[in-house]
Amino acid sequence: MTALKLEGVNKSFGPVHVLKDINLTVEEGEFVVFVGPSGCGKSTLLRVIAGLEDASCGTIAIGGDVVNAVPPAKRGIAMVFQSYALYPHLSVKDNMGLGLKQEGQPKSVVQERVSKAIKMLDLDDYATRKPAELSGGQRQRVAIGRAIVRDPKLFLFDEPLSNLDAALRMNTRVEIAELHRTLSASMIYVTHDQIEAMTLADKIVVLRDGRIEQIGTPMELYNNPANRFVASFLGSPS
Ligand code: ADP
Ligand code: MG
Repeated sequence: MTALKLEGVNKSFGPVHVLKDINLTVEEGEFVVFVGPSGCGKSTLLRVIAGLEDASCGTIAIGGDVVNAVPPAKRGIAMVFQSYALYPHLSVKDNMGLGLKQEGQPKSVVQERVSKAIKMLDLDDYATRKPAELSGGQRQRVAIGRAIVRDPKLFLFDEPLSNLDAALRMNTRVEIAELHRTLSASMIYVTHDQIEAMTLADKIVVLRDGRIEQIGTPMELYNNPANRFVASFLGSPS
C-alpha cells in the first residue's frame, strides 16, 4: 500500500508561491529524504503533509485516504522538529505521554507505550528527569520518543540532528536507521547533510525553489544527477 501520495500540491503565502506542483509517492515502510537549499520549501512541504498548513491546491492522501480536510492529530502522522519543543516543567516520561493523554487514551495505554519507547531509546535512567537535566542528544531522543508513542504510520523529521555535534549526529543517525527497521514505519526526513541523506534514504527527493528537481535512489542521484544543481548536493565529485 501507499503511505503517502501527493498530487499537484501547491502552497502560496499571499503572493509568494512556495510549493509548485508537487507530485510524490511514498511507499509503506519507505525512508524518503528531502534535500535542497535553505528556503526551497522543505519545512513547508512537511507542514502541509502534517496538516499544520493547508495546501492551496492539490490532494494529500495518506494510506489511500484523502486527508486535506483531516486535522493534524487525526492524520496518523508524528513530526519531530529541529528544536525539541519539550515542556520544561514535565519529566521525560510526561513529555512523551502528554499527547496521548490529551487524546484521551487510558492511563494504562499511555504508560505502556511510554515505557516501550523509553526502552527503545535507552532513556531508562532518565525517565523522571526534566529536559534541563538532559544533554542535547537525550532531549532529541525524548522528542523522537514523543513521536513513537503515537504509533504513527508516517514519521516526519525536520532536520532533527542539526543542533547536535558531529559525533552525536552520527550516533543518532544510526539510532534512527534502527528505529526505521524496528518500527517498519514510513519516514520522511529533511536534512542538509549529504552523508545522512546517502546513508538513510531509500529514495531522495531534491527540491529547488519549491519544485521537485529529481527523485531517485542515493546511487541513482550520485551516479546520474539530472543537472549540476543535483550534483552539487549529492553527485560524484567528477
Ligand atoms: P526550508 O525548510 O527549505 O528552508 P521553508 O519551507 O521554511 O524552507 O520556507 C520556504 C519559503 O516559504 C521561504 O521563502 C519562506 O520565507 C516562506 N514561508 C514559510 N512559511 C511562511 C509563512 N508562514 N508565511 C510566509 N512565508 C513563509
Ligand atoms: Mg526548514
